[in-house]
Amino acid sequence: MDNYNMLIARLAEIGHVNTSIAVLSWDQQCYMPPGGAHERAEQLAVLGKISHEMFVDEATGKLLEAAERDAAGAAPESDVTLTLRAVRRDYDRATKLPTSLVAEIARATTLGHEVWVKAREASDWNQFAPTVSHLLDLSRQVAEYLGYEDRAYDALLDQYEPGMKTRDVERVFDELRPGLVALVRDLAAAPQIDDSVLRRDFDEEQQRIFGEAIIAKIGYDFTNGRQDRAVHPFCTSFGRNDVRITTRYDRNWLPSALMGTIHETGHALYEQGFDPKDDFTPLSGAASLGVHESQSRLWENIIGRSRAFWNVYYQDLQRQFSGVLDDISIDAFYRAVNKVEPSFIRVEADEVTYCLHIMLRFEMEKGMLDGSIAVKDVPEAWNAKMQDYLGITPPNDAEGCLQDVHWSGGMFGYFPTYALGTILSAQLFEKATQDNAQIVPDLERGEFGSLLAWLREKVHHPGRRYLPAELVVRATGEPAQSHSYLKYLNTKFREVYGIC
Ligand code: ZN
Repeated sequence: MDNYNMLIARLAEIGHVNTSIAVLSWDQQCYMPPGGAHERAEQLAVLGKISHEMFVDEATGKLLEAAERDAAGAAPESDVTLTLRAVRRDYDRATKLPTSLVAEIARATTLGHEVWVKAREASDWNQFAPTVSHLLDLSRQVAEYLGYEDRAYDALLDQYEPGMKTRDVERVFDELRPGLVALVRDLAAAPQIDDSVLRRDFDEEQQRIFGEAIIAKIGYDFTNGRQDRAVHPFCTSFGRNDVRITTRYDRNWLPSALMGTIHETGHALYEQGFDPKDDFTPLSGAASLGVHESQSRLWENIIGRSRAFWNVYYQDLQRQFSGVLDDISIDAFYRAVNKVEPSFIRVEADEVTYCLHIMLRFEMEKGMLDGSIAVKDVPEAWNAKMQDYLGITPPNDAEGCLQDVHWSGGMFGYFPTYALGTILSAQLFEKATQDNAQIVPDLERGEFGSLLAWLREKVHHPGRRYLPAELVVRATGEPAQSHSYLKYLNTKFREVYGIC
């Protein structure tokens, strides 16, 4: 075997360890009895250590170097070149950080999580502030070791959105913010929608049956996946042929499971849609968290909350919950699932206000990292921005700057991926409907195959061949932009709220 194939074989073995970790984690969250927690933590730690050691081992580095030498003359767009580029990125990132720093981060985030839980219970930022300062300090060290050209935040962002720079995010967000703030203001002035219909009594088993029928129709392959219950909905992959999703049911809030299921299905379709010829290679993977989120948001919001979708499926929903929705017109139901209301909690935010929550966090993180926002002043700065963007002020820290788990895990630079994915979902959908005139009429008949086929070709099959920015240009013909998203929101929500 030549160096390249030996490298691929070694990485495939590491991949099998990683998917085994995923199986154990899935079991932990879905079926493991509480008593299993201690041993499971040990099992996961050992496997995690094995995987990490196999990857950062000198043997991997030497094979990688040799394969790079052998492939020096290969075409820049060839799979060999693109594979080696992806592996080089992963390898450098995994080996640039000293073991002592990695260990210190593991310790600090484990403790940090406990501190955050208590601080949030007490709704007291001051209890959490020293932890945040310490984790920011560690993140600054991470940035220095990983290296960056312009700003330290670039290095952190790059961990989740490869190749993306802080200024790229700023460009997209700056373009979006004024239009979004204006739309939120206009919608707030219109008569509010009554969504109490969604809080009626919806039998959980009927929710499951309806949700699974919908996602099968969309294209989720139950031969290569399954859905279970978990406290937090997620999608996990044990390889392209076994991609699982979870959901949670709320008897008195229909969108929780229904929209959550469609969201996780969007993630799963991406994972099930990697090119079969890339199986067990580093190309069989997602381009980035942002691209992943573009898939979940596209199916959840642009499809699952569209009028075309409910025109076809609302009668089925009424039949599924016999009697519960009989007095509710499709128009009233459609408007209810698209209610917009500025609120304090990000994870409960609607389609229109969601990105403003993210922009706020992005600005807080940049400010804390470069020192322009003192950690002790975070609540004040947070609340001022909430007032600016959404016109509301959180009553306390728990409903404000302490609501998210991310900072306790040292995950600075992660938040922007949520908004980038949301913005990208509209850009991709717009281009798909331009490329294939059959997609819109198909959606109006409740058929999703032509849209899924476009996504398979442009987004899923490329896997990790391209950096997210390259993928976006290849798929849509232009860099990431927010005017498609703004246009989509304005068209849809001005109609929903009856304003022009
Ligand atoms: Zn998601």
